[in-house]
Amino acid sequence: MAQKRDYYEVLGVARDADGKAVKTAYRQLAMKYHPDQNPGDASAEEKFKEVSEAYEVLSDNDKRNIYDKFGHAGLEQRGYQGASGGIEDILSRMGDIFGGDMFGDLFGFNRRRGPGKGQDLGYELELTFEEAAFGVAKTLEFHRQAKCKPCEGSGAEPGTKKTPCVQCAGRGVVIMSQGILRMQVQCTRCGGAGEMIATPCKVCRGQGVVKEPVKVTVNIPAGVDNGTRVRKPGEGMPAPPGGQPGDLVVMIAIKEHELFSREDADVHAEVDVPFAVAALGGEIEVETLDGKAKIDVFPGTQHGEVVTLRGKGIPRLNGNGRGHHHAHVAVVVPKRLSKKQKQLLLEFMAAGSDE
Ligand SMILES: [Zn+2]
Ligand SMILES: [Zn+2]
Repeated sequence: MAQKRDYYEVLGVARDADGKAVKTAYRQLAMKYHPDQNPGDASAEEKFKEVSEAYEVLSDNDKRNIYDKFGHAGLEQRGYQGASGGIEDILSRMGDIFGGDMFGDLFGFNRRRGPGKGQDLGYELELTFEEAAFGVAKTLEFHRQAKCKPCEGSGAEPGTKKTPCVQCAGRGVVIMSQGILRMQVQCTRCGGAGEMIATPCKVCRGQGVVKEPVKVTVNIPAGVDNGTRVRKPGEGMPAPPGGQPGDLVVMIAIKEHELFSREDADVHAEVDVPFAVAALGGEIEVETLDGKAKIDVFPGTQHGEVVTLRGKGIPRLNGNGRGHHHAHVAVVVPKRLSKKQKQLLLEFMAAGSDE
């Protein structure tokens, strides 16, 4: 077996690259070496496998830790086989990162499809925290393959006819003889179609399909999280003859919020509490997904304590109620004191405790 290259080198990222940088590097390389872009190119296929394996390891914290400490040998000892399986397996595993990028340039994935169905299209959609929490309708704009209209998908310039393939004389198959064996195999020249395009259509250059801009509106339900997939049937790649078009698969990514962080359906946020309120108790206003709300701070509340507002979190995707809002108390000590405040605090110290 050939010596394996360093995964960081394969992706061209620094050893301390974060998940985002790893993903970006992989996406670019995967696009470059993707089998759809390099049909029949074995070296591109090898490259594609290599970058996919590197991504599989570096995007997984456990695997990456093992690799950082023990290298390729460490992963092998723990049973990691590399990007196992064929291209199809890799494509279906990696499908979720071949989403639509900012150029709206999509290509198909999920080739494990039934006969007669077009490929699914992936689109990575970034939502705000609130959009993900409460749901939103989004109109996505991207390019999608469609049947070329001038040639009606035939690939032949309008007004011209296809001619029978010269290699198979229009049969689509050729007979191969090997010793006493005679085999019928698909014609390589016409791909089994039996005919060839004499004058390719100028619009699609003989492909029969063109990329056209489309707008698709997708309803994102309340409660989606990072990695949730929302499927829009029939908005993927066009159908092969007699089949159904594929689906549009929208993969959700949520932007960071300046106040809130999220854990499943629960929201966590910090809330400033003046030290006197923490000591004496009182009401404090907090920002929640529903706007302002009040929390009760009990006397003697400590820094880091959590006050929970039940049902003020994120609606659950399955419609089963809402999560909670957790306010994490940050006790605020004044940086400056007035003369009077200072005097009072000195008296406070001198007073000691009742107990
Ligand atoms: Zn032929
Ligand atoms: Zn055409």
